[in-house]
Amino acid sequence: MFMKVYTSIARTSIARTSIIRSSIRRSSTDSFWRNALHSGVRPLSCQKQLPSRQEHLHALTRTEFDVLIIGGGAAGCGCALDAAARGLKTALVEAADFASGYTSKSSKVIDGGPTALQNSIQSLDVAQLNLLRQAMKERAVMLKIAPHLNRPMPMLMPIYSGLNMPICWLGCKLYDMFAGSANIKGSHFLSKEATLDEFPLLRSKGLRGSVVYYDGQHDDARMCLALAITAAQQGATVVNHVEVIELIKQDGCCRSAGMRDVLTGKEFYVNSRMVINATGALTDLVRQMDDCKVQPIAAPSCTTMVSLPSYFGSPRYGLVSGNGSYNPSLVMLPWENHTLLGILNSDCEELTKEPAPTQAQVDCLLSQARKYLEENVELGNHHMRSAWMGIRPDVHWPYEHKYQKPTRPLQDYLVEVSDNNMITMAGGRWSTYRLMAAKAVDVAMECCPLEPEKPESNTSNLLLDGAHGWHGLLPVELMQCYDIQSDVAQHLADAYGSNAHHLLAESTPGSRRRLHCNFPYIEAEVQYAVRHEYACTVVDVLARRLRVAFVDAVATLHMLPRVLHIMSRMKDWSEHDQKLQLLLIQKFLCREMGLGSLVQPRSNVKRKQSVSSSEVDGPLRTPKAPRQLKTRQYSGLMAQPAYVEEPPIELPKKSVLSKSTSPSQQLSYRQRKQQLKRKRIQQQKQQHMCASNEVVLLPKKPVQQAIIRHKVCMTAKIKATPTPPSLPSPNASPTPLPTPLPTLLPPLTPSPKADSVGIKPTCRNNTTLRSQWRNLLIC
Ligand SMILES: Cc1cc2nc3c(=O)[nH]c(=O)nc-3n(C[C@H](O)[C@H](O)[C@H](O)COP(=O)(O)OP(=O)(O)OC[C@H]3O[C@@H](n4cnc5c(N)ncnc54)[C@H](O)[C@@H]3O)c2cc1C
Repeated sequence: MFMKVYTSIARTSIARTSIIRSSIRRSSTDSFWRNALHSGVRPLSCQKQLPSRQEHLHALTRTEFDVLIIGGGAAGCGCALDAAARGLKTALVEAADFASGYTSKSSKVIDGGPTALQNSIQSLDVAQLNLLRQAMKERAVMLKIAPHLNRPMPMLMPIYSGLNMPICWLGCKLYDMFAGSANIKGSHFLSKEATLDEFPLLRSKGLRGSVVYYDGQHDDARMCLALAITAAQQGATVVNHVEVIELIKQDGCCRSAGMRDVLTGKEFYVNSRMVINATGALTDLVRQMDDCKVQPIAAPSCTTMVSLPSYFGSPRYGLVSGNGSYNPSLVMLPWENHTLLGILNSDCEELTKEPAPTQAQVDCLLSQARKYLEENVELGNHHMRSAWMGIRPDVHWPYEHKYQKPTRPLQDYLVEVSDNNMITMAGGRWSTYRLMAAKAVDVAMECCPLEPEKPESNTSNLLLDGAHGWHGLLPVELMQCYDIQSDVAQHLADAYGSNAHHLLAESTPGSRRRLHCNFPYIEAEVQYAVRHEYACTVVDVLARRLRVAFVDAVATLHMLPRVLHIMSRMKDWSEHDQKLQLLLIQKFLCREMGLGSLVQPRSNVKRKQSVSSSEVDGPLRTPKAPRQLKTRQYSGLMAQPAYVEEPPIELPKKSVLSKSTSPSQQLSYRQRKQQLKRKRIQQQKQQHMCASNEVVLLPKKPVQQAIIRHKVCMTAKIKATPTPPSLPSPNASPTPLPTPLPTLLPPLTPSPKADSVGIKPTCRNNTTLRSQWRNLLIC
């Protein structure tokens, strides 16, 4: 029955594809086919049409599976892919969305890390060393099977003590040797100047230089989704928003599971010969469903992560704090044109499905980060764009005895078989998901004689969805074929790989509009997520398909009405459904992303008055510190800076054009004014598109902004200078600045924009002081 559905879908997909092609060919405005013809590119990828969620649900109830996997995180999806690729009848159910657990809340690093090596050497732990070597190999495999989602990440370790320098350097070299052929690139030393060029805000006092080693970085949620989709392509039945509520035993073995479709509330049973529990940090809940007397094994630890504007970090390098003792506790990583900041907090006291970061945790994180930033750099709550808490699913060995106390958590992963033959895979990391999955399937085959087509795991060479036909010049190809901007092309190539062609070929020029002017996300992605990526709710789209909720919670609100509109049309949602979706996203943003409590909408942030706005985008360390617009290593395209503010249009003041001006000049003034008005309306319209009128937070009108800034400067000037030095008239040519500068200079306070960049009002040297003074005069 299932096979029939599958083949008929494949046929319809071919028919639909040809319709799309012919409609595109007819469109004379689209340069797509012309370019494609010239470049010889075949943009529409032959992506296999997957069964819909509804069809997967049908298959769930009607098939007897070899393995049923509970949990759609890294471990569960990896396991589903492994089992399906071996030819086993596989089902996977996920209570919420794929990667909605802690998989999407990781630090996005595929680590090895020299610290792990150092720890294993210190404790002479051979097993740990082996695991580390395996993790390094796995990192290389991940870079190979999904090159669009994984990339090399140079990690910089700043060194403040001369003694630490040779130790760190040696550690990194040992790390390179240990990785062997799986090493991404050799570690190297960076001088103090080069380090500060990469991280302009890094504390310079006492800095000796830094050591750089190479790790991997990935988009965790999209990687997990790619695993789930590839598993479906291999024939697995994968369903999100279906929760296991009961496990049923037959002949003393766990043989079927009671489930509830969370979206409809419908309950049903699924039969399977083996059940695998891959529920991460919540593993004990399912273990206790199987055997209520079983001792808990979860030993989770919390990590708080926040997203900051990109200028706090480097666009190319991650930063790992050395802390003098060479123990990394703080990481700072570039991600989606923002900087992610994270710290390992503590053991987790309470396990919840929706953990929320607390103010105390965020304060601790920010205060740690401040230690690595220049003294005059401000880093506060108002710089945060999003904040979340992740729980690492560490485990203890299962207790042998009821009263036995657990020892320290396992660094390794665990595959446990219960008395009822249920397999639990727990612990582990992103860097070991494939090994863990292969082991769990091997154990399942041992426990219940299953007969796969291929007895061995073969996922190390299996390219994931989007990796077929991916190449480094894909963004350029997309730009040439579809006439899209470079940052959009780069984002689509990174997130969808070769499927970006499919996404864009299906879209209309209208749906290639941005959802927010500061982000490269486009409307067609929402349609693609619903059609091809099993996105069921607005949260699925905004948090795990587009990732904007993790990057900027406020911008997510701006995009929400448009996304809701598109999804409502596609899914035929009633008004009640739409309200429910709004409630869900509100709950997600407020509880899990700290919106309102930790992350404030920008308009609510009280800004201090300013004297100077010269350092808005400008340098902090020296006036000529580089604006960090560098090409991304793996792509060759220019990364776009986040938050590109359109310069406000300033209307010329009428007083400047005195009444004595000639009639012809008056006319040109009126014309110019009209022209500017039209331009301003156009700009407002654009901004309005980005920020919906339903969700407030509209950016201020540019003219208003200009006037306000002007007023702020004026008041600052009046308040701050009780006895101002004689100011030159605005029309006068700029007079050379007096040296030494007058002591009457008012105390400097940060400007609204300068504040947002995180500058404290201390002046570092005369040059900065002078430029601030000049701005004061201009104001
Ligand atoms: C902050 C942080 C940083 C990390 N950093 C790194 C790193 O640098 N490198 C690295 O390699 N790893 C890292 N990790 C670890 C890595 O992210 C995790 O090991 C991995 O994602 C865990 O995946 P999982 O599938 O085991 O668990 P989860 O992702 O939590 O998945 C479990 C899933 O099971 C589902 N579920 C639960 N109960 C049920 C039920 N009854 N029915 C159906 N479904 C159910 C949940 O909804 C959930 O989606 C980090 C983790 C965190 C939190």
